Amino acid sequence: MVDCHTHLWRVGEHIGPRMMDAARRCWGATPESFDVSPERHTAAMAGMDAAVVLGFHAPHVDTVVPNDYLADYCWRAPDRWYGFASVNPVEPGARAELERCHQDLKLPGLKIGPTYQNYHALDPRAFPVYAYAQAHGIPILIHQATTFPREASLRLALPLTLDELAIQFPDLKMILAHIGHPWEPDCAVTIRKHPNLYADISGIHGRPWRFYQAMITCVEYGVMDKLFLGSDFPFFTPEQTAEGLRGVNRILEGTALPRVPEDAIEAILARDALKVLGLRS
Ligand SMILES: [Zn+2]
Repeated sequence: MVDCHTHLWRVGEHIGPRMMDAARRCWGATPESFDVSPERHTAAMAGMDAAVVLGFHAPHVDTVVPNDYLADYCWRAPDRWYGFASVNPVEPGARAELERCHQDLKLPGLKIGPTYQNYHALDPRAFPVYAYAQAHGIPILIHQATTFPREASLRLALPLTLDELAIQFPDLKMILAHIGHPWEPDCAVTIRKHPNLYADISGIHGRPWRFYQAMITCVEYGVMDKLFLGSDFPFFTPEQTAEGLRGVNRILEGTALPRVPEDAIEAILARDALKVLGLRS
């Protein structure tokens, strides 16, 4: 199995007090549960063939995981850890930093989150970064979904924004994190239109009704084949996510509500996101 959404960060060094306080308030996170050392990441991914490991450049929400730190970890197991660098596309030098990460650090993907980085995804200043990613086949994992730090504007987080972006950059590969929760229908109709758009299922199985609605929406709009397994570790493990996915129909017992087909569930778990994204053959 491949986990396409995992974090690597140290509380204190990369996660500042404002982010830690928000995680404590909204998730009940403790510094111990939130901290992901290289050793902890490796142990949590023991059951995975490979994982996408995300950088995070978002001083706006008090979180910066340097690209060099990420690359150091990914080099330990280049066949298993696929590092997604992070830049703020509207910052001066962002395109050059992406090029350095791609060419020199060999980080094959890009992680962005306009709500965390306090910019609008359609800001023209960001376009050179998108153009570079599109030209070099660099997939972007984009957090276009709700979140918990109070300074992260939800106005900047709406998945529908990416429809316009995909129209302007039709060959740009994007994975929408968390099926765009709680705007899963917006995410489903957006990825349905665009051949190079996908979504990951991370971080939402803990809300059973929300999760069921997300999955049945993807069934009804015909986008189940565009969903990837992701855990959002340390929030959840891949095993918890897989178990949550296999249990998505549990809340329907005794009702006439439509079931999420079991074969489509197993297909998500078996899907190799890295192959689909062209990152390995
Ligand atoms: Zn995440």
